[in-house]
Amino acid sequence: MDNTQICECANCGWKGPSSEADLGIDVLLSLPERVDPGEPFPAGECPKCKSLCHVEQALPILAIVVEGGIVQAVVSDKPGLVKLRDLMVIDYDAEGADLDEISLVPQEGGTDAEAIVVSHSISLARINLAGILPLIPASEDNAS
Ligand SMILES: [Zn+2]
Repeated sequence: MDNTQICECANCGWKGPSSEADLGIDVLLSLPERVDPGEPFPAGECPKCKSLCHVEQALPILAIVVEGGIVQAVVSDKPGLVKLRDLMVIDYDAEGADLDEISLVPQEGGTDAEAIVVSHSISLARINLAGILPLIPASEDNAS
């Protein structure tokens, strides 16, 4: 098993490397009576409370791909895990657009503004988004 994976225990909140979760022969033999059908395969037993713990599910990365000021695509490394009702791009730079492309978007003060509104879906990223993360320059916006 890959020791760099992080496990978490839903019972007591323990988090640690999967190498610390006990997946010895005794634990393996007990799994048929402890794991329900359809349940994900556990990483082992929690070292703190002996409940079964699982590999932490990393949250998805979402990237909006823009070229020449136009959104080309919205991609994610795990599009199935991104839960949204809709994803809209509202472009207020509607100058020169055809009338049938323009929507009147209600504004805070009760007025309407012309914009091009396009609905996007999230597709599977064909580039390594996690590999790009370290390349983002540190700024006040994304410093954590
Ligand atoms: Zn635990």
